[in-house]
Amino acid sequence: MRRADVLVVGAGPAGLFQVFELGLLGLNAVVVEALERPGGQCVELYPDKPIFDIPAIPEISGGELAARLLKQIEPFDTEFRFGDAVSRLEPAGERFHVVTDAGAAFDVGAVVIAAGAGVFRPVRMRLEGIDRFEGRQLHYAVRDRRALKGQRVVIFGGGDSALDWALTLASEVRSLALVHRSDRFRAQPSQVARMQALCAEGRMECVLGKAADYRTLDDRLVAVQVALADGGERWLAFDQLLVFFGMVPNPGPLAEWGLEMERHRIRVDTQAFETSVPGIFAVGDINVYPGKQKLILSGFHEAALAAFAIKQRLEPGKKVQLQYTTTSPQLLRRLGRL
Ligand code: FAD
Repeated sequence: MRRADVLVVGAGPAGLFQVFELGLLGLNAVVVEALERPGGQCVELYPDKPIFDIPAIPEISGGELAARLLKQIEPFDTEFRFGDAVSRLEPAGERFHVVTDAGAAFDVGAVVIAAGAGVFRPVRMRLEGIDRFEGRQLHYAVRDRRALKGQRVVIFGGGDSALDWALTLASEVRSLALVHRSDRFRAQPSQVARMQALCAEGRMECVLGKAADYRTLDDRLVAVQVALADGGERWLAFDQLLVFFGMVPNPGPLAEWGLEMERHRIRVDTQAFETSVPGIFAVGDINVYPGKQKLILSGFHEAALAAFAIKQRLEPGKKVQLQYTTTSPQLLRRLGRL
């Protein structure tokens, strides 16, 4: 079982800034994030949309904000565990035992739940019985790109993930079709233009329509039927199907952790953002208290106060001093600036 000062559940903006505030106070953190990448809603739901209400940053996209939060925590010794969700959380004396879906176990002095809207899960393809091929021929994420080499691949979706993978795989696979319901793509215009150029060169094709049916042979998927946007239908033969219909949040296992909840959110005090279980804190969209607003800047403030309370909990009897990053040699050393 690995030991750390603090375990942070979720790498959305609140979880990432929590790592920074803990690091400033000399505490190390392990972050468990259900998705393969950090950024939470900012990256999953609006990576390219501008945000206008981050203090002192007049305009920044969701993706850029996440990138800058990551840059800010570079000086600290942080262990990230992506693609794995925290499933169990149990007090063990003054400390906590935390276990993930994949079986990783941690012994930590405090836990900060920054789980936002919950675990994001991929929107699934709604064709009866197709689920049983998940992980074999039907994929909602690319885990091993080499396994797709030389295969006939069909990609469904019209967002950044679908386009990014189409562009990446076009030169590696035997054949590639991108299927989207209309010619309005939700991806970077430059990516759409590159995809159209590849289609014009005959290196992939783009089919407008929706999945309607599929065929199997010897318990293997062999083809998918597309109901074409301009009428009619078409069968596409394939070896591997990649589906990128976006992500939806799911409350996950939080309700089983013995915390006081209010309509799927965790009740906290506003002094330390501590839950009904001492030592477990909750910051960002997942918490609720009188006057709470689900804004990124609320999560930042909550993370700062939670960090002070955690420091006090882990070092009882010592006064936690407020120090400024501008002038404190200790903080500047922790930031790698001295
Ligand atoms: P999230 O961003 O939801 O991140 C939580 C992370 O925790 C997720 O990555 C999730 O996968 C992970 N997680 C959950 N459960 C587990 C588990 N059990 N184990 C491991 N990982 C887990 N706010 C603003 O201030 N300004 C804006 O302009 C703005 N625009 C928005 C536009 C849209 C379209 C949307 C949807 C939201 C917008 N928001 C905006 C709100 C803002 O995105 C949220 O307030 C913010 O993302 C909350 O951050 P968070 O870190 O609390 O949670």
